[in-house]
Amino acid sequence: MTKLKIAVQKSGRLSEKSLELLKECGIKLSNGDRKLKTEASNFPIEVLFLRDDDIPQYVEQGVADIGILGENEVWEKDKNVSTVEKLGFAGCKLSLAIPKDENYTNLNYFEGKRVATSYPKILGNFFKSKKLNVEIEEIGGSVEIAPGIGLADGIFDIVSTGSTLLMNGLKEVEVVTKSEAVLISNPNLPENKKLILEKLLFRIRAVRNSSENKYILLNAPNESIKAISKILPGMKSPTVLPLAEEGWSSIHSVVKEDQFWDIIDQLKEKGAQGILVVPIEKMIL
Ligand code: ATP
Ligand code: MG
Repeated sequence: MTKLKIAVQKSGRLSEKSLELLKECGIKLSNGDRKLKTEASNFPIEVLFLRDDDIPQYVEQGVADIGILGENEVWEKDKNVSTVEKLGFAGCKLSLAIPKDENYTNLNYFEGKRVATSYPKILGNFFKSKKLNVEIEEIGGSVEIAPGIGLADGIFDIVSTGSTLLMNGLKEVEVVTKSEAVLISNPNLPENKKLILEKLLFRIRAVRNSSENKYILLNAPNESIKAISKILPGMKSPTVLPLAEEGWSSIHSVVKEDQFWDIIDQLKEKGAQGILVVPIEKMIL
């Protein structure tokens, strides 16, 4: 039987979340003690554990059909792969930083300077688009020590909290781009593998929708139903059920997690009571 081969990071910041996503999609992996590969018992998929740097190349060559990795690696490696879905985890910034006592006004600061990075392609394209001449020093890791040892005037690297920069006497001066985990695919998958990918994508979207949405139930006087329905559009429109108490109804709907607190305030203004908000396990649109 045809199996879709998916590459995930062997160990690092993406590994756990990648496997968790597959699990939430109902895919059971035989005890993943992170060998080289493992198979699912209930879905036509095989998981390959690799270094994230290698995933674009393997997906381009068809060693793996699809893969999960940070967009930053996809851009840097610039292989012939398609990005099929953003996955909403491992978010980070790719930023320029310089020694904290330096005066910084704007990007022209970097003209004629040296910048150390593990992402020479992304940075080279950026400076080119800004028509700046900057010398790029490619180094494999520990980029943040480069200015301190006289290797460069500044750095370009992944920043999440900024604590690494601070510890090395640096300050972030420009956010060049933002990255998150994505699902990439070989652009020439055969039809039978495309079908498996579609099935997987359907599940991934259901999982992501469910984590972004909450189910909400509340009681309201009948005269408020119209106003409340406007605040709570739901998937189609809210469900309205009569309560045993005359003149009152129970209203059910779905709200976006990030709009939740705003909506609650508006609902209370319209006379809503007994508001319950519960997690959604899966959501199919
Ligand atoms: P590998 O051994 O697989 O090459 P790595 O050391 O290159 O691993 P990790 O540090 O595990 O990679 O990071 C993997 C990805 O996680 C990054 O490419 C980036 O997309 C994302 N990421 C999110 N936050 C951070 C962060 N604070 N530091 C580094 N990477 C981060
Ligand atoms: Mg790597």
